[in-house]
Amino acid sequence: MTAPADVIFTNAEIHTLAETDETAEAVAVRDGEIVRVDNAYEVDFLEGVETEVIDLDGRVLLPGFIDAHTHLMMVGSYLVNADLSDADSPADCVELLAELDADREWVLGYGFDESMWEESRYLTRDDLDSVSETRPVVAFREDMHTASVNSEALSRLRDEMPDEDVETKGGEPTGVIVEDAVDAIYEAIEPDAETMRELLLSAQRDAHEKGITGVHDMVRRSRAPEVYRRLELDGELSLRVRINYWSDHIDAIEEIGLQTNHGSEFVRTGGIKTFTDGSFGGRTAKLSEPYADGEGTGQWVVSPEELDELVTRADDAGLQVTAHAIGDEAIDATLDAFCETGDPGAMRHRVEHVELITDEQIERFADSGIVASVQPNFLKWAQEGGLYDARLGEERRKRTNRFRTLLDAGANLAFGSDCMPLDPLLGIHQTVNAPVEAQQLSVTEALRAYTHGAAYAGFDENRLGTVENGKKADFVVLDGSPWEHEDDIEDIGVAMTVVDGDVVFDGRND
Ligand SMILES: [Zn+2]
Repeated sequence: MTAPADVIFTNAEIHTLAETDETAEAVAVRDGEIVRVDNAYEVDFLEGVETEVIDLDGRVLLPGFIDAHTHLMMVGSYLVNADLSDADSPADCVELLAELDADREWVLGYGFDESMWEESRYLTRDDLDSVSETRPVVAFREDMHTASVNSEALSRLRDEMPDEDVETKGGEPTGVIVEDAVDAIYEAIEPDAETMRELLLSAQRDAHEKGITGVHDMVRRSRAPEVYRRLELDGELSLRVRINYWSDHIDAIEEIGLQTNHGSEFVRTGGIKTFTDGSFGGRTAKLSEPYADGEGTGQWVVSPEELDELVTRADDAGLQVTAHAIGDEAIDATLDAFCETGDPGAMRHRVEHVELITDEQIERFADSGIVASVQPNFLKWAQEGGLYDARLGEERRKRTNRFRTLLDAGANLAFGSDCMPLDPLLGIHQTVNAPVEAQQLSVTEALRAYTHGAAYAGFDENRLGTVENGKKADFVVLDGSPWEHEDDIEDIGVAMTVVDGDVVFDGRND
């Protein structure tokens, strides 16, 4: 006699998204694990008197989305400060910032993207002085490597900002800052544990509303790891969090012997996060050929020599490395550093973003087993006349984000959002409807990259990422079928999110 299930989800169109995608009608869960996936008749046998039966009215049930690249503290920051991601002009941003209540010490806005505006320019010191002349005002660009600040913020922190990262005109700062100068701001506004708790809990709610059940979070000099563990102990964490620690934590990590995959049911150690280059928005991504619309080939944030050293050290300590590389030159340097460890596929070292890639690099990904951790939502810049066109020109624009070619070559592809914005269905929509064939995936392939692919990048493919017996009961339930709505996947509603068999978001009849 088999023990009854705790919960049965039935009357659904279940896609397992296993190696071959199979469909079923019902799934039974016991102790947070999937115990049967089958037709409703077969699964009914596991119904006991205490079993909760959830009728999904024919909706689509998939493995929960795993976002392989998040900054949840930032998501929380968007939610509790000014969210500039929908602004469409500098004036709009100024208005949103001015609406924040007046008792805040810092006036903060997140996520502006001037590349999508008609008046396509960065916010300036003058813009932000009009918000306040007495309180520091900061507007972060969506890529987080560039920000605009007002005079008060500059006067407080100018000494902490390296000259080369502070833009000037006629000797005066314009208010635009990049890289290390932006870090000075992050340091000054770092939240305490209580604020961090508030930020992470609001981000967790947002993630569940988008169908996300697990994240690989990138964490730097913050209380986030401590707060995640505290939330788990308090029974308040319902998102599986894999923490990737910024490289400036490596001494501490080595000292306490933390290794990749250490951890609990909900909080695990990922690897070491580092950078090589900047971004296309800031013209700081490192290219082999100059920018189409500016001087130079970008800049190293971490030099190849430093990167080599860090990768060797992390690999020796049993730590996976996740290295940000956007331009082709940066991707080369990162692949070189990873390959020097001998077997980079074994540690599943990851290149984050992989935006401008050469054919030869695609082969190197496939041969080495290095994970391409990419963001399909970045394809919003790949349209004709978009950001990639401006920065790179047409030929290189068409070589960005080539998920089709990577997958066909046999590379490990993991999808994430980098929180620009946090929204897997939007990313899946972008790649299914991408402008260039080399960027296009089928619905099934795109969904797999956001589930199984991301799980693999986190050594989690035996626990997460498909709807199969023995896997964790982490699901997303959709109001419509992405296979039947290829043209408007981004508009499909998330009806329910389930983690460990528990319903953590229920948006039915919303
Ligand atoms: Zn990131």
